[in-house]
This record gives sequence, structure tokens and C-alpha cells, in this order.
Amino acid sequence: VVDDGSGRSTWHQINRNYLGFPDGVHATALRELGETQARKYGVDFLDARAVSVTAEGTDRDKLFVLQTTRGTLKGRTLMLATGVSDSFPEFEGSDECIGKSMFWCIFCDGYEATGQRVVVLGHDDHAAALALQLLVFTDQVVLVAGDEPLTIGEERLRAVRDHGIEMHDCGCEVFQCAGEGRLEALRLASGKEISLDMLFVAQHAEPNSQLAKELNIATSEEGYIVTDAEQATSVEGVYAAGDVTRLHSHQITSAVHEGAMAAAAVNHYLYDEWQRD
Ligand SMILES: Cc1cc2nc3c(=O)[nH]c(=O)nc-3n(C[C@H](O)[C@H](O)[C@H](O)COP(=O)(O)OP(=O)(O)OC[C@H]3O[C@@H](n4cnc5c(N)ncnc54)[C@H](O)[C@@H]3O)c2cc1C
Repeated sequence: VVDDGSGRSTWHQINRNYLGFPDGVHATALRELGETQARKYGVDFLDARAVSVTAEGTDRDKLFVLQTTRGTLKGRTLMLATGVSDSFPEFEGSDECIGKSMFWCIFCDGYEATGQRVVVLGHDDHAAALALQLLVFTDQVVLVAGDEPLTIGEERLRAVRDHGIEMHDCGCEVFQCAGEGRLEALRLASGKEISLDMLFVAQHAEPNSQLAKELNIATSEEGYIVTDAEQATSVEGVYAAGDVTRLHSHQITSAVHEGAMAAAAVNHYLYDEWQRD
């Protein structure tokens, strides 16, 4: 496993919707449990960045050659589970806020917003929809445009107004962090200050599919790696799992399901002809 420890599972969130952890499990603790478990079965972990990949040979002799920041690795199969990159606002103490007071996913953290003061940061229909959806949990929702001016469709705008959501069309000047990851207020360019308990960033994540593109693997319009039901990509021997495979359902449960499907398919692929059923 080549991993540079920069993904979504490296922030401060407690995952409360993953089966088997009734009190939730910290994202990094789950990573450590997984690593300990895999090491017991002989898996090696390389703390490095994969920078490029090529394929050499054909058919059963095909090998994938992965260049990493700590050397070259070769394998008969390649599984891409590179996740996505988020674009959270950056300010002093922002890293510590991610997963503690700064979020993006209503499925993951909406319930925690119950009765809280929530600000949604974003300028488009997606941001407006997120603000409206959060009304399920709290009536204290404010929508603040980010770096760009509000561009919300007429119908959606009407819904936002009709449901009493306060809107501000000027970006945030200052994010006030009380320390220990607790974002407590935003100051807008207009000078107005908004107190909050949780910030939901209505961002559009970027799939980390550069390695797939180097192998000419098919990707969707948004850049996600296209797979079949067994997580095989359009290039034989390459599989993909997790957030990098689809626009929706960015959840640990989905990533684990796809990882299990891919692992079973890889296992079968690696059997010799006389072993296959
Ligand atoms: C704030 C926050 C709260 C969340 N809350 C929840 C929740 O409550 N419940 C839930 O189910 N989900 C939650 N999620 C989503 C969940 O974290 C993701 O769905 C899950 O981590 C996806 O797993 P993944 O393995 O596909 O990607 P990731 O966890 O992002 O892992 C990808 C890995 O690939 C590595 N990588 C990428 N490119 C390279 C490269 N070129 N070389 C080396 N390594 C590389 C990264 O370092 C990273 O370790 C949350 C996410 C965030 C950010």
C-alpha cells in the first residue's frame, strides 16, 4: 500500500455512521486499525507519493510500474483508491477545524447540526440546496457566498427566501477560530459578524484520478474513474475503489464495499487459468 497520508480520512472527524462503532470512530483511528489488521496478513505500507505509472508487457506478463517518491514498485495488478481533494477555506487554524467545526457532508454530519447555528459557505445552487436540506436539523441556517458572487437559480432562490434563510452576497474576510478547531464566527466583507457552531462548505471535490489518466483509463465527465460492478476499470488489471470512482455516496461504507469487491476481483484475476472456477 502506497499512501502519503493526505486524504479525507486524515482529518479530525468522528465517523458516526460506520457499522460496528456505536459511539463513532475517529477517522485516523479507523485508518490505524485497518493498517494494524492488514499488517497481520503481510501487507507492507510505504509512506510515499505515487507520482506516475506505466504498463509494460502484455496479457499475463503485463506489469504496472509505479514511480513513487521512495522508489519504483511493480505489480501485476493495480488498485487505485486515491480519493478526492477537497477545497476548504484556508485561515489560521483551519486544518484543525476540518472535521471538528468545518464540514461538507450532510449525510456524515447533518445530525450533529441539530439545533446548532450553521453557516453554509458557497455561491451556487448546490450551496442553496445544502442550506435548505440542513433545515431538517436546525432553523438557524445562514448562507454566505464564498469567493464568488451568489449565482442561484430563480426557483431555488425563492425557496431559500421562503424558508427564512438569511443570505449574504459578500465573501468572508475573517474566519475567527477559538482554538482547538472551534470556528466561532465569520466576519463578512461588509463588516457584519456571524456567530456559528458549524460551517458547511458547499464545495465541489476534485477526484484524484491523475494516475488513471496516465494509463488512459476511462473517466466520467467530472473526472471520476469509471468501473464495472467488480470495480474493474477500462484497462485490464487495474481496479479502483472509494471516493475516486463516483460523484455521489462519498462514505466509508461505500469505499469499504468497493474495496472488498475489488480485492475479490483482483484475487480471481491473479489466479492461473488452472485455478479459476
Ligand atoms: C470532514 C469530513 C467528515 C467526514 N465524515 C464522514 C462520516 O462521518 N462518515 C463517512 O462514512 N464518511 C465521512 N467522510 C468521508 C470519508 O472520509 C470518505 O468517504 C472516505 O475517507 C473515502 O475513502 P477513500 O479511501 O476513497 O479516500 P481517502 O480516505 O481520501 O484516502 C485516499 C488515500 O489515498 C492517498 N493518496 C491519494 N493520491 C495518492 C498518491 N498519488 N500517492 C500516494 N497516496 C495517495 C491519500 O493520502 C489518502 O490516504 C468525511 C470526510 C470528511 C473530509
